Amino acid sequence: MSILVVGSVAFDSISTPFGEAEDVLGGSACYFSTSASFFTDVNLVAVVGEDFPQQHVDFLCSRGIGLEGLQKSAGQTFRWKGRYEYDLNEAHTLDTQLNVFEQFKPVLPETYRDSEFVFLANIDPELQLEVLQQVKNPRLVACDTMNFWISGKRDELIKTLSRVDILVINEAEVRQLAEEPNLIKAAAIVRSFGPKTLVVKRGEYGVLMFGEHSVFSAPAYPLEEVFDPTGAGDTFAGGFIGYLAATRNLEEEGLRKAIVFGTVMASFTVEKFSLDRLRELEYEEIEDRYRRIKLLTEFGHLD
Ligand code: AMP
Repeated sequence: MSILVVGSVAFDSISTPFGEAEDVLGGSACYFSTSASFFTDVNLVAVVGEDFPQQHVDFLCSRGIGLEGLQKSAGQTFRWKGRYEYDLNEAHTLDTQLNVFEQFKPVLPETYRDSEFVFLANIDPELQLEVLQQVKNPRLVACDTMNFWISGKRDELIKTLSRVDILVINEAEVRQLAEEPNLIKAAAIVRSFGPKTLVVKRGEYGVLMFGEHSVFSAPAYPLEEVFDPTGAGDTFAGGFIGYLAATRNLEEEGLRKAIVFGTVMASFTVEKFSLDRLRELEYEEIEDRYRRIKLLTEFGHLD
């Protein structure tokens, strides 16, 4: 089952304690769709500028990603500049240039309007809603966002969230959105905005999933070398929603397995800059890390 994703396609400039990269391929929709493409078909809706090179289009095509909804407009591609200190869990945004996204009016190709699985990757919440309004009867709508939009477009974001089933968001952003420091209370507040399921990304500490009757905790994959955490969240979401769309199992067990597939995908992305690790990834490597995470969290029954 294919997924429709709207989000950013970007040039990222990144500095980490281990190196620097300038104007490399990034953006929430790129990371998401590349990751999800290991599990199912993905159709991407976004905009790029005239400066976007054909080699990036060719790469996305090579992953089988549908690009009928990728518009090319006069102007520059979205740009994000970020820096990480030794605490790689926190990205410091140095610059955000919306560029062609400022005027972007998403129009879904007719065939995308029947999409059953929709992912509203991190982008202006008004654009997220515009896309959602064009989808006829989605079975599952999931969404991501970030501090930039929580502080800049809070009301619009809350409006979008009223139509979302699953929100995937960072720990600090849950607290910011809920205006509540305690994470458990904050999760309940955010769930009251609409999403039945809240997935809280906690960087190297893993993921917590809050549902109606349960909380599920998954550790991050223990990695010795984390090179660049950019895109970890979007890549996680790609594995998570990709697996859900591929299996169509939205029961608790299916959601839990999907969380672990998301975790595995994120663990690869952070090993290299940009999408470079995903470019060379083989499906067997994904299964191998899935099994290792299972072992990591297994313990005996109570005697
Ligand atoms: P993450 O998965 O949270 O590390 O997302 C990193 C990606 O988000 C980068 O590739 C950026 O291009 C993109 N990004 C950063 N800021 C924004 C923003 N305000 N809106 C949309 N995408 C963004």
